[in-house]
Amino acid sequence: MLSRRHFITGALALGGCAPSVVTKPAKRLAVTMDDFNIGFNVRLNPRERNERILAALDAHNHKAAGFVTGRFIDSMFGDEVVKSWSDAGHLIGNHTYSHLNSSDEDADVVKADILKNHDLLSQYSGYEKIFRFPFLAEGGSAEKIELYRKFLRANGFQNGAVTIDTVDWYITSRLESRLKADKNADLDPYRDYYVQAVVTLAEHFQGLTKQIGKADIPHSMLIHHNILNGLFLDDALRALKDAGWSLIDAKEAFSHPIYKLEPKIPTRSRSLLSVLAQEQGITDTGYPEAYRNWGKKTMDALRL
Ligand SMILES: [Zn+2]
Repeated sequence: MLSRRHFITGALALGGCAPSVVTKPAKRLAVTMDDFNIGFNVRLNPRERNERILAALDAHNHKAAGFVTGRFIDSMFGDEVVKSWSDAGHLIGNHTYSHLNSSDEDADVVKADILKNHDLLSQYSGYEKIFRFPFLAEGGSAEKIELYRKFLRANGFQNGAVTIDTVDWYITSRLESRLKADKNADLDPYRDYYVQAVVTLAEHFQGLTKQIGKADIPHSMLIHHNILNGLFLDDALRALKDAGWSLIDAKEAFSHPIYKLEPKIPTRSRSLLSVLAQEQGITDTGYPEAYRNWGKKTMDALRL
């Protein structure tokens, strides 16, 4: 019988003799879940939804990030939801109190709203000063963007940028309409569509990282605390793993230098990668053809 010592020696010897191989860049992503708009109450109630999302993250041994909008959780039940995330070791980030569009609103109003949310979220041990702009709208004009960057720096916030932008919010809006019309509707086609969309979009943005010479970054993938993920997050994570993705803790992902970059071109509701590509003169339309306009045409054709 081979002893453990012999096995290790043998393995080392093999490693030493093995020809060097070019390793493919690791495909790593962190789940980052926005809004926590926990009102929808058909098929799954909000508590069941939250429990299923946390169970899916736990099943994949993943520490995610929740970017919380204060006004959605400023209640006893909302407090319970955010506490359950914080207690489970997930990162809690700031997504403004009122979900304001930083490009459209007066900058002073947005700044006050960020600080109001900071005061509310500071009670949770998992809270970190990582801020994500609602609608990924960083300010619209170069002047306004610089205003926000100065403000965030002065107050010790990091920008919680998105690298993999998905269309889960749009799929959810269609699924919710279906459920309002028929609470017993067959949701399997929505699950299949969502799972394929997540994997396709993750691969799209990984392709873009290669094009801009940053193939090894840990991605932050944007999805939302919604019924779609209450029902199908586990399916989506399993499909990503089957496609060769691994999960990286959100806190660790956000410590990567790419999340400190401040591109000169306004992000304007796009993935950070699309903006960095544009800086290099590479055109990225944001989404593959099937998901343009959030995939409306594709979902219409599938009668979803
Ligand atoms: Zn949002």
